[in-house]
Amino acid sequence: MKIFISADMEGISGVATNQQLKTPSEYQRFRHLMTADVNAAIEGAYNGGATAVVVADGHGNMSNLLIEELDPRATLVSGNNRVMCQLEGLDESFDGIMFVGHHGREAGSERAVISHTLAGICVNEMKINGQVVGETEMNSLVAGSFGVPAIFISGDDAYVAEVQETLPSVKAAVTKRAVDRFAAELLHPEVARKEIREKAEEAVKAAKQAVPLQVEGPVTFELELKGSQQAMMTTTLPTVELTGPRGIRFTCDDMVTAYKHMWGCVIIAMSATNGVLGSVNA
Ligand SMILES: [Zn+2]
Repeated sequence: MKIFISADMEGISGVATNQQLKTPSEYQRFRHLMTADVNAAIEGAYNGGATAVVVADGHGNMSNLLIEELDPRATLVSGNNRVMCQLEGLDESFDGIMFVGHHGREAGSERAVISHTLAGICVNEMKINGQVVGETEMNSLVAGSFGVPAIFISGDDAYVAEVQETLPSVKAAVTKRAVDRFAAELLHPEVARKEIREKAEEAVKAAKQAVPLQVEGPVTFELELKGSQQAMMTTTLPTVELTGPRGIRFTCDDMVTAYKHMWGCVIIAMSATNGVLGSVNA
């Protein structure tokens, strides 16, 4: 029984504001808390029957988790040059995917803590075949195309409610009550981790019955970006068409190709924020 964990930071127990993840001293504190939440999920997964766990660090620069503190039974995908973004390492050999410390989408609940979709600097809204998605729904569709079901999520209560609209039977550990985008009523991390451990165990025990989330036929992404300069630069790719000053659209034959294409557009859009060569030193 192989389990893939996509780990993010905004939904980790103890996190209430973006500043906590950006201020250097605070950020170091939260790396320990993130690793501890992921360890709770790994322990729960093994208690539920997992025999292998791969964790992909998916927040910010994608190297937040402290390998020296990680449960040694798991391996860790770390570092950010990844064609498959938050899902690098996932394939059809897995039996379930778990989302630890994830968050609500940009155009979702007003109170979901540090809500955004993939890259707050450039994405306002993302749709797949007409349906608005957050990271969890999008990643679940990619996992589904490998036949891998989404079985567990952890994060704030608004995030959990949002995801359960699409994935009603996913097991969920609520780590905090969302008050506002930058405020939460926090559970003590030990309390939250107990919940993560127990729900992760339940999720893995029920993984065989879980149904992968799948999309039929060609996959069309529509992205509403934050700046027109970001949208315009994505049209360097011949597959991308503008749908408005900040809107882009493209279609691919399958979900994995479309996911990589989306990531390519987001990379271009991020780099176009202040001019694409603005930060190149070479
Ligand atoms: Zn994040």
